[in-house]
Amino acid sequence: MANREALKNYTQSYLNADAFEDYCPNGLQIEGKEEINKIISGVSANLALIERAIDEKADAIFVHHGLFWKNDSQTITGAKRRKIALLLENNINLFAYHLPLDAHPDVGNNAQLGKLLGINNMSPVANSLLWTGELELNVGEFGVEIDSALQRAPLIIGDQSANIKRIAWCTGAAQGFIDQAVELGVDAYLTGEVSEQTPATALENDLVFISAGHHATERYGVQALCQHLSDKFGCQHQYIEIDNCV
Ligand SMILES: [Zn+2]
Repeated sequence: MANREALKNYTQSYLNADAFEDYCPNGLQIEGKEEINKIISGVSANLALIERAIDEKADAIFVHHGLFWKNDSQTITGAKRRKIALLLENNINLFAYHLPLDAHPDVGNNAQLGKLLGINNMSPVANSLLWTGELELNVGEFGVEIDSALQRAPLIIGDQSANIKRIAWCTGAAQGFIDQAVELGVDAYLTGEVSEQTPATALENDLVFISAGHHATERYGVQALCQHLSDKFGCQHQYIEIDNCV
C-alpha cells in the first residue's frame, strides 16, 4: 500500500518532473484518497479509461496524457465535467506525466519503445526527447518487426529494400522533429503521427519516415513507470488498453 503524498513525491523526483517546461501540469492532477492499493495505468485520461478504472476499483490512475492542457477551455463543462465528476465521486487520484515520461532514461516512452523494437546503442540527443540508435535491418523487415511489436501496421515512406543502420525516433506527435533527424544524418526517422508535408520532407532528404501511431508508441512508458512504482511501494498495478487508431 502506498501513501498518496509519498507516491507523489517519489514519482516527481524519480521523473525529475519539476525540471520540465510543459503544456500541462505534471504530477497529481486530481486529488483522491490517501491510501493507494491499486494503480491503473493507461495512455490517456479519456472517459473509457476512467470508467474501466472504476470497475477495477482503482485508487489511482496514471496516464501520459492528462486532463488539463495549456490552450484548453478553462471551464469545466460537458465531457470534461463528467470525467472530473467520476474521479471525485469515486475518490480516485489522477496522476499525469507528459514530457518527463517521454524523456526518462529507463521507464520513458522513448527508451521503452527503443527496447521493444530491438534498437541497439540507444542514446538521447541533447533535449532527450529525440533518441538515436542502431539497427541491422532493411526497411521492410523493420516494418514487420514494428507491426508485430505494436500490433499496428506502420505507415512507411521510403524504399522498402533500403538498409537502416542509424535511426532516430521520438514517440507521439513529433513529426516536427523530422528536420532534426535530417540534420543528424540518420537513415530513418520514426515517430507516432504524420503531417501533410512529412512525406515530401522525407523523400527530398533521402530519409525513410515511419509513422507508427501516437497511441501505439506511447503505451509503454506509463506501464514501465507503474510497474516500477508497484514494485517500490508494494501496490497492485494493471494496464488498461483503450483502443485508439491514431
Ligand atoms: Zn503524446
